Amino acid sequence: MKSILPQNIKFKKYTLADRQQVITLNRPTTQNLALGWWLFSLLSAFFILYLLVVHPTLARAASPPSSYTQYTEAKNYYQNLLSDQKKADSRRSWLTGIKNFRRIYHAQPDHEIAPSCLFMMARMYSDMYKQFDNPLDLGEAIAYYEDITSLFPKHRLADDALYAIGRIYLEDKNNPQKAAKIFTRIVALFPNGDMAIPAAGQIEKLKRNSGEKTSDDDTFTILEAGPIKQKIGADKPADSIATSNETANLLPLRYWSTNNYTRVVIETSSPVKYQEYLLEKNDNNPRRLYVDLENCQITPDLQKNIPIDDGLLRRVRTGQYSQDSVRIVLDTLSLDDYKIFSLQEPFRIVIDVKGQKKSTITIAEKSTPEAPSLVQQLGLGIRRIVLDPGHGGKDSGAIGPGGMMEKDIVLNVAHKVAQKMRNELSCEVILTRDKDVFIPLEERTAIANTKEGDLFISIHANADPTKRARGVETYFLDLAKNKNAMQVAARENSSSASQLSDLQTILNDLIQNSKMQESVKLAEYIQENMVNGLSEKYSDINDLGVKQAPFIVLIGARMPSILSEIAFISNPKEAKRLRSDKFLDHVADQIVAGVSQYVTDLNLASLGPQY
Ligand SMILES: [Zn+2]
Repeated sequence: MKSILPQNIKFKKYTLADRQQVITLNRPTTQNLALGWWLFSLLSAFFILYLLVVHPTLARAASPPSSYTQYTEAKNYYQNLLSDQKKADSRRSWLTGIKNFRRIYHAQPDHEIAPSCLFMMARMYSDMYKQFDNPLDLGEAIAYYEDITSLFPKHRLADDALYAIGRIYLEDKNNPQKAAKIFTRIVALFPNGDMAIPAAGQIEKLKRNSGEKTSDDDTFTILEAGPIKQKIGADKPADSIATSNETANLLPLRYWSTNNYTRVVIETSSPVKYQEYLLEKNDNNPRRLYVDLENCQITPDLQKNIPIDDGLLRRVRTGQYSQDSVRIVLDTLSLDDYKIFSLQEPFRIVIDVKGQKKSTITIAEKSTPEAPSLVQQLGLGIRRIVLDPGHGGKDSGAIGPGGMMEKDIVLNVAHKVAQKMRNELSCEVILTRDKDVFIPLEERTAIANTKEGDLFISIHANADPTKRARGVETYFLDLAKNKNAMQVAARENSSSASQLSDLQTILNDLIQNSKMQESVKLAEYIQENMVNGLSEKYSDINDLGVKQAPFIVLIGARMPSILSEIAFISNPKEAKRLRSDKFLDHVADQIVAGVSQYVTDLNLASLGPQY
């Protein structure tokens, strides 16, 4: 609804006095028209009531305090901090002050006060550095100033932010070359801004001091137009994507992060071409990764930085880089290695980042000693197992006779396995889902990694168009060697075989450094126990063996990981067994036995060759 009200009414708070005023203003001059007057004032009152209750703009205006008020309060807090030495000596006071601005910014990142909030956060971090001499604070200050230049490049504070960064390099970081570059950039980008003249003055001064020396470091303020330092990967996955000509929209980002691992999933409304770039480390920033999406738009509500400050991932910044491209920047504390790949239906780009393990408070908190389990006492190194019951929610998995669903069966098995593992192996067990919910494949792996599982086991039931197919098979992640394995992976990935062959081409890169040998061993033990254990109680247990295929759910898992196909839901005989709780109980027993044997084997191996 578009407002047709005069401006002065629109933002006014209405009180009883106002109402009286309106009534008075509307009072007819002839007192003897009493009835008309009452009618008129009654209508006026209703009109005002309408304004207050129904009209949303007014309703909002009436709900205090506004962002402006909060901003003023936050600024007052900051001013007090500057004049109160005792308060200023406390780091906590400063952090509280920063939090005040951050809160306002987060509440409405599109609000016109947002850049000012970022600016104040940057300034406070800069002040903190002067007070406490912690270089991390300076890094924060630069990052927030950068956010202004990248998120609000046309805002009046953009050049001020850049100038502030220049001064930090000049005065705090003793890097006149870089400072000169930044000042030059101000003159070029904001020739009419109020910082152009001071920047030009700085350049002159720097030239006088050091001649024309410049370094070849262009890796700064990467969201601005500038040469791309290094290009990694030749757009392999994107080239094979059937992209449409329509402009895609960026959807909300998803991410998971720990001290040394981060997975970010970029989803768009339709497939897009993308290109990733890596900025090499310089003396002030770790390596940084960013991804450009072609033919893509970002809605204003998503155009923001997402401060995460949780583990490896410091923040993710997204922005409309050019008219038809979106840029996503990952600011990580460190970036040792990364993998990027795309998945289909829905189209999404998955980025896995590996960093150096840093001893932070988070780690210290995590290692709070608990009573060691038997497994831990034996030094087996398997303390936490992540179980992944396949499918769930809208994804029923394979469907068997009478409408029985794979998702229900495997959830039941997973619960049983979890219980038995807790009892028999005294280890911690985490389920990627413990109820009937849909969880994307890439999220399951992310859960296993962020929970720092020592083993990852995905549980499924098999299916085949020919009802005759039956038996047990266990998979580890690798290129598929035959058509059958390919079909199983295509089904479990909910993808077509052709999409899978795209995945095959990039898989070599993806499985590097994965725990493949351990995964094969784990798969062998589980397969062996399933076949032998179940054969003791059931006839015709068919051993289909240990196989390999590109299962999305196993890609990027940082621990030994396997996918178990416990039986064929499409085979009438095996479907009947899958209906029996007792059979599922036996299946669970065998999975636990396989893991137990793997763990024992690991332990013996660690004791030395004499065993
Ligand atoms: Zn499945």
